[in-house]
Amino acid sequence: MFKYNYPVWQSDVLNIDGVGHAFSTREGGISEIPHLASMNTGFLRGDDDDTVRENIRLLCTFAGISENVIGTPQIHSADIRTVGAENVGEGITKDVPFPCDGFVTDCAGISLIVRVADCAPVLLCGQREDGSPVIGAVHAGWRGAAAGIAPKAAKMLFDMGAVRVFAAIGPCIKPCCYQVGEDLFESVKDLQGADFAARHVKERDGSLYADIAGISCELLLSAGVERVDVLSECTACHPELYHSHRVTKGVRGTMGAVIGIK
Ligand SMILES: [Zn+2]
Repeated sequence: MFKYNYPVWQSDVLNIDGVGHAFSTREGGISEIPHLASMNTGFLRGDDDDTVRENIRLLCTFAGISENVIGTPQIHSADIRTVGAENVGEGITKDVPFPCDGFVTDCAGISLIVRVADCAPVLLCGQREDGSPVIGAVHAGWRGAAAGIAPKAAKMLFDMGAVRVFAAIGPCIKPCCYQVGEDLFESVKDLQGADFAARHVKERDGSLYADIAGISCELLLSAGVERVDVLSECTACHPELYHSHRVTKGVRGTMGAVIGIK
């Protein structure tokens, strides 16, 4: 179950010893430009880079995790990198070797961030037999979701020795607002089959609406994830609390989802 611990959302499904996480909203940051205020974790949206870095630092504080963060420019792929202490600062204070849309690690003292504004942030946490944690964070818009980026992260955690994996999907655009084209339906059908596409891309009043959180949720459960918590909030329904790309036609800030092993 999700709980709003101002100014972030947290899920009890990810309450595992030694792990902290948070999904940001627009609240609790230091950005002052109206369309970014106040919590913007995205570079190149209008804030000074140092303002963005301070917001990311604050977000890690809210999550109770290290300020040694790893991020990346995101490209709507299903590419995930395994990272460690040597990668700290990438995507935040230094360049990345190559962009991707998610990370996994078993390294303590570092934090992972993915950034969203309508796309779904998915945080994952697993435990090995000895109780030690492994974690992941992915950015899952429809392309990444349909291509299976979330279950891919889960599989990587299992491959790292996790015997159980949990996941939480934070604030994203929901079927109430996410009107899509026939091409999206066809792509989901090509990737996951007609029945799957029909379950997550539905017609209403002559238009199609997609459930990107539903896509990742079903695929995560199929991949053996024990529990998946899905926040019911729709970013486009509540632009006062969330940065929504759709509502603002792109003039917006970016939310962050962070997870770290303490
Ligand atoms: Zn909505």
